[in-house]
Amino acid sequence: MQELGIKNIVLLGCTGSIGRNTLEVVRQYPGRFRVVGMTAGSNIALLRDQIEAFNPMLVAVADEQKAGELAQSLPSHWSARILAGPTGIERVAAMAEADTVVSAIVGAAGLLPTMAAIDHGKHIALANKETLVMAGELVMARARANKVRLFPVDSEHSAIFQAMEAGRRQDLHKIILTASGGPFYDWEASRLADVTPAQALNHPNWNMGAKITIDSATLMNKGLEVIEAKWLFDVKVEEIEVLIHPQSIVHSMVEFIDGSMVAQMGVPDMRIPIVYALSYPERLRSGVRSLDLAQSRDLHFEAPQLDKFPALRLAFQACGRGGTCPAILNAANEVAVAAFLGEKIRFPEIARVVEETMNRLPTGAIKDLNSVLDADLSARMLAESLVETLALRNEKSSGNNPLGPSTNRAAAASRPTF
Ligand code: NAD
Ligand code: MG
Repeated sequence: MQELGIKNIVLLGCTGSIGRNTLEVVRQYPGRFRVVGMTAGSNIALLRDQIEAFNPMLVAVADEQKAGELAQSLPSHWSARILAGPTGIERVAAMAEADTVVSAIVGAAGLLPTMAAIDHGKHIALANKETLVMAGELVMARARANKVRLFPVDSEHSAIFQAMEAGRRQDLHKIILTASGGPFYDWEASRLADVTPAQALNHPNWNMGAKITIDSATLMNKGLEVIEAKWLFDVKVEEIEVLIHPQSIVHSMVEFIDGSMVAQMGVPDMRIPIVYALSYPERLRSGVRSLDLAQSRDLHFEAPQLDKFPALRLAFQACGRGGTCPAILNAANEVAVAAFLGEKIRFPEIARVVEETMNRLPTGAIKDLNSVLDADLSARMLAESLVETLALRNEKSSGNNPLGPSTNRAAAASRPTF
């Protein structure tokens, strides 16, 4: 569908952090990129402004009532162009006019539309790492079958993708994913029980959506990225290492067999990986300032503390077990993060809910998408019940305010006894 060098883009998750950054990039290059379709969850106020600015052919809103409200607020010729619900989003993801689909919905809701786009031969600029965490093997197989490419938007994976170009695939020794460590990396473990959602939402280096910001604070985000890297770059989990790098300047590295390490660096700004995912193999100006290394603080690297941040250890485990285990980890984490943001459970309990869910549910083989969706659903139901147990206990231990100071901090920090 490409004409005169214009790339037609569908943007899934247009109102989110990645979505808005992508539109910034598109706005800079009207002759290169055109948004033909966009989808949002429920923020129709912002979506309306975006529709006015980018005039897409088709739009979908996950929340059906909001889709109706949006259609009402636009001139009548728009009504046929506004679709509703998950099937509406899948239709936009598969629309004939699109060349590339930017997958930037958050969480498991991104899986089916991304699959639909792949099945319709669209290249994918992938931000939604949960797609690969849940169903990496299926997604990569379908991408191969449909001859579509997945270009990473996640900054670490974009860094690895770029660094890989310095050598041959068979000469790769390992991948080193860097992690900022989040806001609590230097905290005493005992203080983590009293972390509030507001504190956890305050990421030192990146301004992102709520779910990924909490995942960054628990280090689950890095765990999900390990699984994402395994599928994107076809490496074994043993070939992936994680290093804490609080400055977020080195976005990740690869090491080749001769001992050469190749890193990609830059100021932490998502427009850099977004532009590269859209313009590859060409490079375009991103509008991001140059990194001034002379002004940078020392670059620090250290091994992650897995005892204090067990979510990363759990993700490595899930990646090693394979099958439906990563989908179970992902679903339990989504439930637990929402419960933490809703002030039902404490910060360390996010990883405990995930661990318990992983331990109680058997890992199955992934035969098809249904086995993934079944595992996702079972894990959500179990994690919800674990959350309820913890919420009740928290309420009892600190009066009626589950997130008040813990009166029994040792119990809150101890291992689960659900
Ligand atoms: P966000 O919360 O800011 O935005 C999420 C978008 O998805 C919004 O447009 C929202 O309306 C939409 N959405 C939410 N629930 C939906 C549902 N059920 N159905 C359809 N649409 C729904 O999230 P974000 O920070 O932009 O992250 C998006 C994805 O990109 C995540 O998978 C995240 O891990 C990944 N990612 C983000 C960043 C970043 O800097 N923000 C960096 C790397 C990777
Ligand atoms: Mg990342």
